[in-house]
Amino acid sequence: MKALKWYGRKDLRYEDVPEPSPRPGQVKALINLVGICGTDLKEYAAGPCMIPPDKAPVTLGHEFASRVVAVGEGVTEFKVGDRVTGLGYWCCGQCYYCRRGLYNLCLNSDFTGLTKDGCMAEYLVAPDYSFYRLPDSVSDEVGTLVEPLAVSLHAVRQGEVRPGDTVAIVGDGTIGLCSLLAARVAGAAAIYVVAKHKGRGRMASAMGATAVIYLGDGDPVARLGDLTGGLGADVAIECVGQPDTPQLAVRLARRGGTAVIVGVFERPGSFDFSSMTFSERNLVGSSIYIDEAKTAIALLADGRLDPGRLISATVPFKDAVTMGFERLLAEKDDNIKILLQIS
Ligand SMILES: [Zn+2]
Ligand SMILES: [Zn+2]
Repeated sequence: MKALKWYGRKDLRYEDVPEPSPRPGQVKALINLVGICGTDLKEYAAGPCMIPPDKAPVTLGHEFASRVVAVGEGVTEFKVGDRVTGLGYWCCGQCYYCRRGLYNLCLNSDFTGLTKDGCMAEYLVAPDYSFYRLPDSVSDEVGTLVEPLAVSLHAVRQGEVRPGDTVAIVGDGTIGLCSLLAARVAGAAAIYVVAKHKGRGRMASAMGATAVIYLGDGDPVARLGDLTGGLGADVAIECVGQPDTPQLAVRLARRGGTAVIVGVFERPGSFDFSSMTFSERNLVGSSIYIDEAKTAIALLADGRLDPGRLISATVPFKDAVTMGFERLLAEKDDNIKILLQIS
């Protein structure tokens, strides 16, 4: 089968690899569509970030819509023909965290498309618990967004966003805009997006942002202060992963408010802890998701989440590098999520 393999920075190869078969407890799916994630883009442009160097070459991809074509021994939840999407993590089920249901914190974890071969291939084989059935009302296109929506729903949960809250989101990529949708579903009364790109900022407005604050348009903290009577946000969600964005998120949070860190960082930054002490702000991390895919699918099925406009284009699999990865790097203003048409 064809697969897109990551060999190193700026070195993705579309090549023939052996077709995998499911082991006990695993599902084999025929991939239809795959989304290029910000993480995939970081691995391409600046990796290795999360791919352990000894795992290369590895097939990228963890956001997909597919159909089950085979199941391994002991799999009862799925049958051949089911339309499914999935989450990326593999967990041991036995460690301290798994025993408490905190699978995202597993001590022996793997991740599809980073440490295990991913779905930028004709077939994906992964554990049955990582798959979720798609109802008829959720298209394959939108099904590819379940994974990033799950990330954002988890971030909103980590930040304990409550009805009536003011939320600030740092970042105008897929996770930033999915977090805007997730905050809206959680009942936030006002949602401000700190954006870098005008096209994406316009998208944020169209998706219900109360206002967009552009970087380079003065101090974003002062701008948010003007918009919130000097208070700032109850919850600020950092979705970028640059050295200075966590500090910005903390400064956007009001006294006693919370900053949630979702970004994946290529390098460390510096942090002024005096922005915590007298303001009693909280700082929490948010690592992928636990079971938020279920929530995401339910919200998509009844129309309460409508992320369709995030999809900028669908391009042929064999042109993934030129029409997908390179385009996302060169034309950030007009592109958010590009899907690869696999089969
Ligand atoms: Zn992703
Ligand atoms: Zn575990």
